[in-house]
Amino acid sequence: MDSEVLIGLEVHVQVTSLRTKLFCRCSSNYRGNPPNTNVCPVCLGLPGSLPVLNKKALEKAIAVALALNSRVSDKLVFVRKHYFYPDLPKNYQVSQYDRYGLTPIAIGGSVAVDVDGSSKVVRIRRINIEEDTGRIAYPEKSVLGSRYALVDYNRAGVALLEIVTEPDLRTPREARVFLEKLGSVLEHLEVADTSLEGAMRADANVSVAGGPRVEIKNIGSPKDLEKALNYEIARQLNIVKSGGTVERETRHWIKERGITVASRVKELEGEYRYFPDPDLPPIPIGRELVEAIAKSLPELPDQRARRIAREYGIGDYMASVLVLHKKLCDHFENASRVCGNPKLVSSILINEFLRWVDEAGVDVPSGITRLSTDRLCKLVQYFESGLVSIKLLKEYVRRAVLEDTSPEELLSKGLTTLGEESEIERVVEEVFRENPKAVADAIRDPKAVNFLVGQVMKKTRGRADPKLVNEIIRRRLAEYGVK
Ligand SMILES: [Zn+2]
Repeated sequence: MDSEVLIGLEVHVQVTSLRTKLFCRCSSNYRGNPPNTNVCPVCLGLPGSLPVLNKKALEKAIAVALALNSRVSDKLVFVRKHYFYPDLPKNYQVSQYDRYGLTPIAIGGSVAVDVDGSSKVVRIRRINIEEDTGRIAYPEKSVLGSRYALVDYNRAGVALLEIVTEPDLRTPREARVFLEKLGSVLEHLEVADTSLEGAMRADANVSVAGGPRVEIKNIGSPKDLEKALNYEIARQLNIVKSGGTVERETRHWIKERGITVASRVKELEGEYRYFPDPDLPPIPIGRELVEAIAKSLPELPDQRARRIAREYGIGDYMASVLVLHKKLCDHFENASRVCGNPKLVSSILINEFLRWVDEAGVDVPSGITRLSTDRLCKLVQYFESGLVSIKLLKEYVRRAVLEDTSPEELLSKGLTTLGEESEIERVVEEVFRENPKAVADAIRDPKAVNFLVGQVMKKTRGRADPKLVNEIIRRRLAEYGVK
């Protein structure tokens, strides 16, 4: 059976670095405001109001287009995309379109991704500038089981970039790495802080075995994208295997339950009735502007990966993983400069830190506050001086990320290779001295060892590792036996 999976993404990124919305002077940072307080006649679409373009949004969009190897259009043309939905105050969204002689801000492009050691190129189809919608809040946290919905327009009109890929992705893992890489490019460009809730959302189109495309809406993070696609691909394959047909439909990812559910029927393209926005005449984009922006582009993830691999002597693969998260890469460079040993630092961050961040369900920036440069360097120091083994070092990272425990605290609890063993040895000596009869019994009868283990556990108030205690006692008894 042909079970080929095709995945294409539509990624919506808020240009969070802008001070104001796309067409009005309301703040682009709506987070934390009481509902419907960050609004004005323009973003509420009141009659008679007129939009004025935020020029900085155009410059940011051009920078993104250049970073993604896209061809920047020679004019900026806005269209109205009509549909009726409560979060859309005007009943149309100001967006862009790529047909009928209309053009988006940029066409084509590519992003290279390294997935578990093999690289591939994902093609970009187009990039749009558009406005964000408001938000619908459900009293039961999701559309399921809620009897009513509330709407908040604080977000309406915030500048968005819509980045659409060709269906070049084949696995949920690839899709996740692509989204991480894209987020990292946007962070390096200082266009968006993708760790903000809702700043980067993906819609995924997925089909299996030549079946119809199913669209999964509003996935909030790379990790959720991977989960949603795993679920959806299994669902579609099950239908195909049992002889059914997959419906062409739009589904929603319900994060809390880890499933996708069918939602509103998607409008066909024709029903959007795209036409040029008469309030926003086309603006020519001069080549000088594009060239000036091209010259001012900062170091981007691919260049950075090559540089850090060379500069710190870490492998290409490690470098490609580090640059997937700008803040993680900053953290790596900073810690390596402070405490040296970049190989160990990169290995801790990639093999241990990322794993526990994932497990704890926290984002990389909050993980970094728990495994700060200070703590990371303490760990490197402990390891280099033989105070902790590689096994204990991993435990220190786990507890720092999951419990916010400092290395000093764990050290003071006796969690060290040397300290632990010599401390137990001391207690074992004591127990042997105090219980000569039990020791004699244990030499004759291995079962009697348990009493001695119990005594050591009592003296260490249960903090010692019973397996290690057992081992040390048996070692000590063997010495007696020889005598
Ligand atoms: Zn406004």
